[in-house]
This record gives sequence, C-alpha cells and structure tokens, in this order.
Amino acid sequence: MTVVGRLAPSPTGALHLGNVRTFLWAWLSARAQGGRVLLRVEDLDQPRVKPGAVETMIDELRWLGFDWDGEVAVQSARRELYRAAHGKLAGRLFSCRCTRGDIAAFQSAPHEEDQELRYPGTCRGSTASGLAWRFRVEPGRVEFTDRLFGLQSIDVAGTVGDFVAAKTPDQPAYQLAVVVDDLAQGVTEVVRGDDLLASTARQVILLRALGHEPPAYGHVPLVVGPDGRRLAKRHGDARIASLRERGVPAERIIGILAEGSGLGAGDATPACLVKKWSWDRVSRERVVLTPERLAAFGA
Ligand code: GLU
Repeated sequence: MTVVGRLAPSPTGALHLGNVRTFLWAWLSARAQGGRVLLRVEDLDQPRVKPGAVETMIDELRWLGFDWDGEVAVQSARRELYRAAHGKLAGRLFSCRCTRGDIAAFQSAPHEEDQELRYPGTCRGSTASGLAWRFRVEPGRVEFTDRLFGLQSIDVAGTVGDFVAAKTPDQPAYQLAVVVDDLAQGVTEVVRGDDLLASTARQVILLRALGHEPPAYGHVPLVVGPDGRRLAKRHGDARIASLRERGVPAERIIGILAEGSGLGAGDATPACLVKKWSWDRVSRERVVLTPERLAAFGA
C-alpha cells in the first residue's frame, strides 16, 4: 500500500520555523517510505484568512524545497463533502443552543493554549435548533498508537464530552473537516504538531462513526519559546518571510531545522534529507527557540 502523507497548513498565520519543522517531518516521513505527499489548505476559518495568504504560503513552501503530488486541495471548496458526512453522522449529532467561547472559535484546530472545557450534555435531548452540532460521545476509552508517543488511551466522554462537529452542515468544525478530508484524499499517515495529539481521539471516534479505521499518526514536538509556549511574536521574528527577506538561504533554514531533529549538520534541502530520515532519530522533547538559536539562522 502506498503511503499518503499530507501537509495541512492553515493560512490564518504566517509560515514560521515551528510549522516548517512539522512540515519537514511530515514530508520526510512520507517520502522516506516512497510515499505521496498532498498539500491541503485549511482555510475554513475564513474571517481569519487574509487575502493573498494562501498564495504566499504556497510560494514559501516551494521556496523551502517542498513539493507535493497532485492539485492543492482547498477546504473552502469542499463543502459538499462535509455536508455528505454530516448527513451520514446525523443519528449521532444533536443541535446545541449553548453559547460558549469554543463555539465561536470552533473552526480552527484547538491548539493547547485554547481552553477546552468538558461539555456537560445540556442539549443532548433537545430537538430545538441551536448554534452548533455536537457529536454524542459514548462512555469508554479510545485507543490509538502514535509513532512517537506510543499507545494513547483517552477518555473523551470524561474529558471533552460531546464535542462540536459542525456549525451548520456545510460549516464543519476542524475535527470533522480534517477527518472527512483525510478519508476523501486517502491519507494513510497524519504527521502534525503535538498540540493536536489531544484532538486525535475525537478524530478516531468520527472516523469509526463514518465506518473507517484511523490512519497512522505521528505528532511532532512543537518549537516553543523560552517560556515553553507556542511560538509567538514576543519570541522574536521566526517567520519564513522575514528570514527570506533578510537573505537567509532556504537551505540554511532547512539545515538548521534538520540538525535540531538529529539529521546531521550543514545546509540541506528536504530532498537530500530523505535518506537520513528515521522516526528513531527524533526526540519527544520540544525544541526551545532561544534568541541565540534564532540568531544562528542569520536573522
Ligand atoms: N491546519 C491545522 C493547523 O494548522 C493542522 C491540522 C492537521 O494537521 O490535522 O493547525
């Protein structure tokens, strides 16, 4: 079976050293297995997508030396698929009237600094039409294996509870959209940031409810600032656009990211790292981007 991996950037923020490191792993893992790599633009959070952001991101990925197979998939153009999945899941969805912060923010992937509260089940039995569709979660643990973090056993009912799957049938939440797309695109391997490890059990539940088994998962430790939090402006300018503008070569960026992932030193392109790649070489530790490390990029 051919391995199919994917890069799934959200054009709601600029490409930076952190997400490029994750994409490098996703790309290398698929290519090292002789697999295909797909590019999927996750732009459902439309109000947060700036004009031109998608084109810029694609241009930067190419400049860094990434390639992909086939057409670029764009989530906002795939509403029909989400509607169909909503129909298939209808028996397990209920409409929820509760106004909560997470309903407003539901279309983006829940990164770890977003507070996730357990839904208390308020609207489970209601038939009134509400603000969002939640998926009814049965009690029990969900298990899956992560390439790096090993066997995970998660009590979704006891931690997040009935989670938001969609706002309307053609406005799916991140959890549902990602599952529908991974299925439709035949993705066999999902490699992404470790802050999404917590979402994976929900996605496994949705996949099974749609009659499928989960793909392989590998969650890549994030690049964080010295305060241990996701990269942000206050940690310095780690955007690819700024490094490129200052004349930092793409090969230096890839080389330094690879070095920090146990793949040797020196300038590099993604393609020249394929032979060195192995999940055994990578650490579960998060990488701290100190000002000194940022300076090493020539920034
Ligand atoms: N688009 C998501 C993000 O940027 C990643 C989703 C995924 O890989 O499942 O956070």
